[in-house]
Amino acid sequence: MSSCNDCIKFSLNIKDPLLEFFDISTGKYRNRKAKFYHAIVHLDHCLNCGSANIVHNGHLYSNVRYPALDASLPVFIRIAKERIICRDCQTNFNFNQYCATRTREI
Ligand SMILES: [Zn+2]
Repeated sequence: MSSCNDCIKFSLNIKDPLLEFFDISTGKYRNRKAKFYHAIVHLDHCLNCGSANIVHNGHLYSNVRYPALDASLPVFIRIAKERIICRDCQTNFNFNQYCATRTREI
């Protein structure tokens, strides 16, 4: 785990071990300036059967708004969610459900 990841998690008060932050940037969201924290979700086992016999099949990106003190500069967590195919139970995951439940804990 990198020190950048630890630092961002500490400042955002995020404890999810599967989320790994690797970069920060500024950009535009709906024509307004915004700050983006870039993260990736790592998973090494199937959420359905628990098997480690999985294949990573690309990423889906989603922007999750994070409540910020400064309303003039919205903060988003841009999460790269891995698409997973389990070879044992033939289940496909795209992590939409996973991220929806995990981000509520932020
Ligand atoms: Zn499985």
